[in-house]
Amino acid sequence: MATERLYQKDVYLREADLTVCAIREYKGKMQVACDRTIFFPEGGGQPCDLGCLGEVKITDVKEDKETGTVWHTVEDASGFAEGQTVHAVLDWTRRFDHMQMHCGEHILSGRFFELFGVENRGFHMGEDYMTIDMAAIDGSPITDEMIDKAELAANEVVWANVPVTTLWFDTAEEAKSQPVRKEIKFGEDISVVFIGDPSAPYDCCACCGTHPATSGQVGLISVLKAENYKGMTRMTIKAGRPALAESVLRSKIASQLAQKYSCEVSTLIEREAANDAKNDDVRRELSELKSALAKAEEEKLKEALPAFEGSLAVFRYPLMSADDLQSMARKAEAIFTKPAALYSEKDKTVVLATPGTPAAGQLVKDYANMYGGKGGGSKTLARAIFTKKADAELFMDLIEKHLR
Ligand SMILES: [Zn+2]
Repeated sequence: MATERLYQKDVYLREADLTVCAIREYKGKMQVACDRTIFFPEGGGQPCDLGCLGEVKITDVKEDKETGTVWHTVEDASGFAEGQTVHAVLDWTRRFDHMQMHCGEHILSGRFFELFGVENRGFHMGEDYMTIDMAAIDGSPITDEMIDKAELAANEVVWANVPVTTLWFDTAEEAKSQPVRKEIKFGEDISVVFIGDPSAPYDCCACCGTHPATSGQVGLISVLKAENYKGMTRMTIKAGRPALAESVLRSKIASQLAQKYSCEVSTLIEREAANDAKNDDVRRELSELKSALAKAEEEKLKEALPAFEGSLAVFRYPLMSADDLQSMARKAEAIFTKPAALYSEKDKTVVLATPGTPAAGQLVKDYANMYGGKGGGSKTLARAIFTKKADAELFMDLIEKHLR
């Protein structure tokens, strides 16, 4: 049995007494149908309403297109009985968000179409944002300037606070006589939504979703992002409360950054560019200093290693990283005529360099894990990484003894 949809007559109805007509289990979930409903079932790209039937939470609302029955999926159907009256309460915040967003999408699409001959070719509505895939009829690109103009024009329609009217048409033929932006191919009982005076609307589009009674209630329309998508421009849009929430969030983030850089929000980009340039200078300087340090340490090694008489020459480096030591050892490979351990104190990592016999990688493999170390490498160069300094020292001690 087709369910009477109270939201079509009064989109602001938040509560109503409904009579339970049917209860069923469907795909493992319990569903309840009533004679009437205040809940919009998912459709036309708009997510479904949520709320409560009596004390029980509704988790989904879907329409059976063949019968016109609206099924409310509930957390627990054990308390329901056919013929029973239940008091339904709508999650109004969620619904009003959807109304603002859906209507915002109509207004923006209408402006793009009228100003630039740009069509809405695909639409998706998430919990608090929408995406619209736009393309110009003549194939020309959509510029940032066009987006700015359409966004402003859309907000001007919001500020004009014009009526939003839904008119019903029995057939697609009748609906087509209206100045609809998108072609209506088939169907019956078609609802057409007009933004403004239906004889000269800002937008006119067939839609089954829920919309506020006036454009002013949309509050705000924001285009947040525009990116290429399959030859079209995919725009991320917010309207109403979600648009305000996004704007507040961005404003707070921008203010915090401006405070950090001691500048105005309007000069943040320049300040950030200057900061990047400064960071580049620091990075370059650091790299030069690291090279100079590595060169100096390499010279010291060249001098110290040949004179060393023990089985393993250990050199400790408080500042150099394991990567820097490894790179230095690789460049100076020829000087390791006897085994050496280059220990990066800050990385707790031993870089082991040998002439090939004994094999450095094999030594790490055989002894590092005894002290919780890990790593590996080639015959001439390997590294062993530890979590404790003491373990790294014990490892080097063990290698020294092994090589004696
Ligand atoms: Zn709509």
